[in-house]
Amino acid sequence: MKSTITVIGTGRMGSALAGSLLQAGYRTTIWNRTRQKTDPLAKLGAIVAPSVEEAVHAGEIIIVNVSDYEATKALLHHDAVSSAMRGKLIVELTSGTPSGAREAAEWHTKRGASYLDGAIMATPDYIGTDAGTILLAGPRAAFDAHSDVFRALGGNVQHVGEEPGRANALDSALLALMWGALFGTLHAIAVCQSEEIELDELARQWSATAPVVDGLVADLIKRTSTGRFASDTETLSSISAHHGSMQHLMELMQSRKIDRSVVDGYDAIVKRAIAAGHLHDDFAALSQYLMVGK
Ligand code: NAP
Repeated sequence: MKSTITVIGTGRMGSALAGSLLQAGYRTTIWNRTRQKTDPLAKLGAIVAPSVEEAVHAGEIIIVNVSDYEATKALLHHDAVSSAMRGKLIVELTSGTPSGAREAAEWHTKRGASYLDGAIMATPDYIGTDAGTILLAGPRAAFDAHSDVFRALGGNVQHVGEEPGRANALDSALLALMWGALFGTLHAIAVCQSEEIELDELARQWSATAPVVDGLVADLIKRTSTGRFASDTETLSSISAHHGSMQHLMELMQSRKIDRSVVDGYDAIVKRAIAAGHLHDDFAALSQYLMVGK
């Protein structure tokens, strides 16, 4: 027998989650604050609950996907709703912080529900596809018991540990990496535009450079995890090499009046490391100078 599922929140992402469950043949109940947003899913066979309380009653697994944890609390933190959760599995897929996830895990566990906290590492078009990635943290047994349901949400739904904050922590870490690339792209565009270099030329050159950057990222993570900060024969680039090129970028940005605040931030980290004697060390040595006060 397939589990019965409830999805609370049918915005862009919640609709994709509910849609993939319906497609996989799960009896799916939905609730959304703005009821008209449930219409397309109702046409696909979803049952629209008239209240959050009835939505929680209807499912064995309750998936929540609203804008933030405050919205989740406003919906679930009522006696009638929380008593309906006893014995069920709550899967919080709303984005949040590690501490928010820990607090929610404690709140749900105290009320007799199992709780998995997740981070969706994908846009709605990936949900239900083999490449759909969702990270889930919390009791392994709850994850294993419902792996068929999670498989319907994406081919790469992973349990990342029992500590409930781990999925949200990884989410923030991966977003930091993503924004590094996206804001870096904005800087690259500004440099090209100010130097009258066509953006399709930038795109062409980036596809040749991207594998080099991927290699540097992987090397940085590996070296930091093993504390290999001193330059050695396998060092790909030292802090001094990066520092020199960064000065060229900063000079160009200054002369072209491009906002330098992000790059000045990079430079501040590099200068702290150089002042501490790491000029000729591996770039990975910078990882020791990210903490405030170091
Ligand atoms: P969205 O389309 O704006 O949907 C937001 C949902 O939250 C809607 O169902 C909305 O209800 C509901 N909501 C907001 N405040 C509420 C409240 N106070 N009470 C009840 N319901 C409330 O956003 P989304 O893109 O689906 O994102 C939803 C969550 O998924 C967010 O936490 C987001 O960070 C996460 N996420 C999204 C993506 C993505 O690519 N879209 C990727 C990863 C993670 P109404 O319809 O009534 O406004």
